[in-house]
Amino acid sequence: MKILITGGAGFIGSHLAEEMLARKEDVIVIDNLSTGSIDNIKHLKANRRFSCHIDTIMNRPLMARLIKDCDIIYHLAAAVGVKYIIDNPLESIKTNVGGTEIIMELANSLGNKKILLASTSEIYGKDRPGKHIFNENDDRVLGTTTISRWSYSCTKALDEFLALAYWREKRLPVVIVRFFNTCGSRQTGRYGMVVPRFVKQAISNKPITIYGDGKQTRCFTDVKDAIEAVISLSKNKKAVGEVFNIGNPDNKLTINALAKKVRAMTGSSSAIRHIPYEQAYEKDFEDMRHREPDISKLKRLTGFSPKINIDEMLENIIDYLRVEA
Ligand code: UDP
Repeated sequence: MKILITGGAGFIGSHLAEEMLARKEDVIVIDNLSTGSIDNIKHLKANRRFSCHIDTIMNRPLMARLIKDCDIIYHLAAAVGVKYIIDNPLESIKTNVGGTEIIMELANSLGNKKILLASTSEIYGKDRPGKHIFNENDDRVLGTTTISRWSYSCTKALDEFLALAYWREKRLPVVIVRFFNTCGSRQTGRYGMVVPRFVKQAISNKPITIYGDGKQTRCFTDVKDAIEAVISLSKNKKAVGEVFNIGNPDNKLTINALAKKVRAMTGSSSAIRHIPYEQAYEKDFEDMRHREPDISKLKRLTGFSPKINIDEMLENIIDYLRVEA
């Protein structure tokens, strides 16, 4: 199989590329390095089944060549990270919507190639009273357009609508996956993600910065589990035209507990500091208090259950970031 991974130099994309090469597939990566890094894929370059294009998915002629030549597309290229979206709203919207449109259209016109579309738990939007667990059919509750955080959720929802429209009208085989707080080596804290930020802060004995009261919870998924789920869905005919949550409900933690755990596991002397949301993000920023994935649909179809617990996940990340530091 020839596999095209958009965003393949990113955190999740590079793990997927590595796994596909280990499975003896041919892998072509396209990445504009906006949030990805050449360091993430440098160890793959010697592999003769690997090739890489540093370019944007908005480059239509290039995308046409790559898509024509591949059997399946994992479309992971997107502006990601709450902080990144807030800081780069225009680029985020243009890439997330325009880029996906180009890929869907070409995949359809150049041989109806299968597409795995990466989406996000941000899709579900705001908290609502008493609701912590989200399944694929749940309503989306979003804030007003002046709060730029919500643009990410909207762009990814448009991507999902587009993919499903291509499936319904053109029978383009699409599978949509919504990642919930995926973590692992190569994830950078630069765009706001909490785990690499806390680990870096702890390793350097700087204050661990918790936004808000820290009582909000998240379920953290190891990237290796996420990749396995994605691959098993891509092989399952019944997944086509469907949306799946990918996450690990067992790795649920308050952000306060995460900070303490990271500090203990690194043997750090970092102080733990609470910072108001407004200072961390933007005025009127709204955070989700709780967000847990219901993964019963994924389990039912593929038999997949995540295996990597929070301690093992954090150990890997700490080891990785210690070497990097
Ligand atoms: N967070 C934090 N300190 C940081 C970065 C994030 O306390 O340095 C909080 C953030 O406000 C949120 C949680 O950690 O409540 C998860 O944030 P992240 O950006 O990793 O993911 P998401 O908000 O998309 O769940």
